[in-house]
Amino acid sequence: MQEKNTLNTKKAYLFGSPVSHSISPKMHNYSFDKLGVDATYSAVDIALDNIDSVTSYIRSDDFLGANLTMPLKTGIIKYLDELDITSRLSGAVNTIVRKNDKLWGYTTDGAGFIDSLKEIDVEIPKKKILILGAGGAAKSIITKCAIDKAKKITIAKRFNKTINDVKAFAENVSSETNCVVEVIDIEDRSALKNAINNHDILINATPVGMTSNNTLIDKSMLRPSLIVCDLIYEPEMTMLLKDAKECGCKYINGKYMLLYQGARSFKLWTNKDMPVEEVKQKYFD
Ligand code: NAP
Repeated sequence: MQEKNTLNTKKAYLFGSPVSHSISPKMHNYSFDKLGVDATYSAVDIALDNIDSVTSYIRSDDFLGANLTMPLKTGIIKYLDELDITSRLSGAVNTIVRKNDKLWGYTTDGAGFIDSLKEIDVEIPKKKILILGAGGAAKSIITKCAIDKAKKITIAKRFNKTINDVKAFAENVSSETNCVVEVIDIEDRSALKNAINNHDILINATPVGMTSNNTLIDKSMLRPSLIVCDLIYEPEMTMLLKDAKECGCKYINGKYMLLYQGARSFKLWTNKDMPVEEVKQKYFD
């Protein structure tokens, strides 16, 4: 292994709060070492009111790039020079990349989610997708699925103070990609049941099921041909996924989305492929 922390060593980071639990430093540092990239990756706890502490640093010469997690994914945007289309439409950045003297914002969550579906032999083109929730992760997935030629995307969301923003987001993605994107009220049980019956893929992009044995979907609404995805990876089997398994559905949790979004960021920083199979065996299986 080459010596790290020399004057030439490039620095990559995960910024956000909390970050101490993150697996990202392990997967990126392992991959840098394996591929002989002279770089290190560290997680640094940065709250939103402390964002100024990173905005000048990311212009420094040794900065390779960064991942952003909550609560910085939106707040960082005004400090960047350019956004790729997925970040521009979703309004979120989870990866900063330096290209020449410019800082670019990307979001790899959506592509990472789509990459993870190959684990269950599922592809996005021509699929009708129903997604629960419209937060940062949902928007990144919706945008990328629309770009990747999903047939239709329906967002099921509470009709609360963010509904108008989400409707505007849906219209914008629809007009920029030609994919039909609609919004329904997640609390309208009959509309939700009807939507599940008419879609191929169901994605839980809410935190419901993370800290309690709870689900937004009655088991009776599931059918064996439905593909069920939960972005949650701890616990590995949420109540929604347990129900999906019992109903005979194909299902997947968010563990491999985390792996593949990291692999996408790694490629953007280094132009090299992360040794995904090794990283998977070491840290994800
Ligand atoms: P977020 O921005 O806070 O958005 C959460 C969304 O869930 C919002 O649309 C919110 O609805 C909705 N929601 C929350 N509680 C709800 C409830 N009781 N009923 C209905 N809707 C509810 O969060 P995020 O960053 O998008 O993350 C969402 C989930 O994805 C989390 O569980 C997170 O851990 C997971 N995630 C996984 C990965 C991965 O790599 N696997 C990556 C990112 C996120 P309102 O709009 O009505 O407030």
